[in-house]
Amino acid sequence: MRATMMSTPLTLSHLLDRAARLFGRIEIVSQTPQKSLLRHCYADVQRRARALSQALLAAGLARGDRVATLMWNHHVHLEAYFGIPAAGGVIHTLNLRLHPDDLTYIASHAEDRFLIVDDVLLPILESFAGRVDFERVIVATHSGDAVPSGMQRYEAFLESATDSARLPDIAEDEAAGLCYTSGTTGRPKGVVYSHRALVLHSFACGLADMMGLCQRDVALPVVPMFHVNAWGLPYTATLVGCKQVLPGPHLDPVSLLDLCERERVTLSAGVPTVWLGLLRELDAAPDRWKLAPGLRLLVGGSAAPPSMIRGFDRHGLHVMHLWGMTETTPLGTASTLKSYLEDLPEEEQLAVRATQGLPAPFVEARAMGEQGEAAWDGKTLGELQVRGPWIADGYFKVPESDRWTDDGWFCTGDVVSIDPEGYVKIADRTKDLIKSGGEWISSVELENALMGHASVREAAVIAIPDPRWQERPLAVVVLEEGAQVTADELRAFLADRFAKWWIPDAFEFVDSIPRTATNKFLKSALRAQFASRGGSERDA
Ligand code: ADP
Repeated sequence: MRATMMSTPLTLSHLLDRAARLFGRIEIVSQTPQKSLLRHCYADVQRRARALSQALLAAGLARGDRVATLMWNHHVHLEAYFGIPAAGGVIHTLNLRLHPDDLTYIASHAEDRFLIVDDVLLPILESFAGRVDFERVIVATHSGDAVPSGMQRYEAFLESATDSARLPDIAEDEAAGLCYTSGTTGRPKGVVYSHRALVLHSFACGLADMMGLCQRDVALPVVPMFHVNAWGLPYTATLVGCKQVLPGPHLDPVSLLDLCERERVTLSAGVPTVWLGLLRELDAAPDRWKLAPGLRLLVGGSAAPPSMIRGFDRHGLHVMHLWGMTETTPLGTASTLKSYLEDLPEEEQLAVRATQGLPAPFVEARAMGEQGEAAWDGKTLGELQVRGPWIADGYFKVPESDRWTDDGWFCTGDVVSIDPEGYVKIADRTKDLIKSGGEWISSVELENALMGHASVREAAVIAIPDPRWQERPLAVVVLEEGAQVTADELRAFLADRFAKWWIPDAFEFVDSIPRTATNKFLKSALRAQFASRGGSERDA
């Protein structure tokens, strides 16, 4: 066979090396816990990431060893994103919002050898360190305080690097990263990302119809670097060489808006709760912040309510809806309007933008129902299954799993319809669907509609057992401050857009909805809390 092209390995180091060479002075801005801004540039990050690689090798890091991080978003985390994989190690991001028992399980299961931790997060480390065997703990300090005995300062660790430690040649299929699912659906499971998957994922994220990043952008990931590669933004931003603004621990709406204004941010990414908070501030004081015109907000992790998308449109900010999961690196789908859909009436455009969107290139999607693959008719529901080069092929140290089909597709556990144009729309997670009288009710649709009511801050809809209908929807609602609205008023509000049997019989008004470590509604807790609220009030 004749030679075709060179088989240059797709490895992460190339992204940073190129950024340092071509865009060396582009800034990486990090907000410290004390709220000051540290300014580095790609040339600095590359130099320091390289020192980290060498120091790790000098400390005995072997191929494939896991190095855990317990950090907010800032330049040291970015250095770890590149420095650990370049040394042949695997960066294992620990989610600092997890319970100490989960952190113990995850760090032990992953057999993490080293840990890099923020000084401000040492109290979290203390809550589980005694149960885990880290060989070395390296502390990224933001103050002059001494580090606890037995631990080492990050800066001192970098200085221990010797230039002689040659970085290994890495093959593209080697492991680069590890992230555990947050256990919304059972015991956390580890997903291992290869260099190749992360590089291809970065190319896809950069596409104009996906995240649409270019060198002139200023990217601010609100989504934490400790969860699913911060949706790939740090790698994609480095691939295109754009400025990155890393917010540290200050994720409240006002701090984020201040930072966006100050650093001229053009693209940010986070879960709907973050954006709902920002929207409230903008609505209350529309002229307070001078944001970059056309600022794009990527939203994912749970469904973006259409009312929120419309709310940001009013401020000239563009919301783009993405879907993904830990097992999909995470970009799976993105919702951009096709050229010929731009003529649709505004409401219909909004409905399309609120879907989870079109599969990314190389991500194949199908909805599987009981009778096989569901038609792409926008109505028939089935479980979303996906496959592609950045979709996991198994879990770390788990020999068997029923999440993969015999013909090689990953079962997402999301129930969707796909319309004739290919837009995927999530109705629910399999376990959250409500089956009433043999028919499915989508909790996501009810929640989105309720969150469009001016008095409703948050709404989660769950199934509760019902002797007559098997299950009925119950709405758990958090009202805006000072707002007053009755269950009957909310029922009337929903009655315009849903069949009568979809309308929740029962409403519970609460102060807050419990959340998972990734800021999603913890519906299992709500189901446990309200299970006894059953009883058939539905008309026959
Ligand atoms: P966890 O399983 O801990 O929730 P993930 O962060 O991997 O962890 O979450 C993936 C899930 O989040 C998806 O399976 C889906 O249910 C939900 N999800 C992600 N993005 C969206 C979205 N845009 N709209 C609705 N649901 C979403």
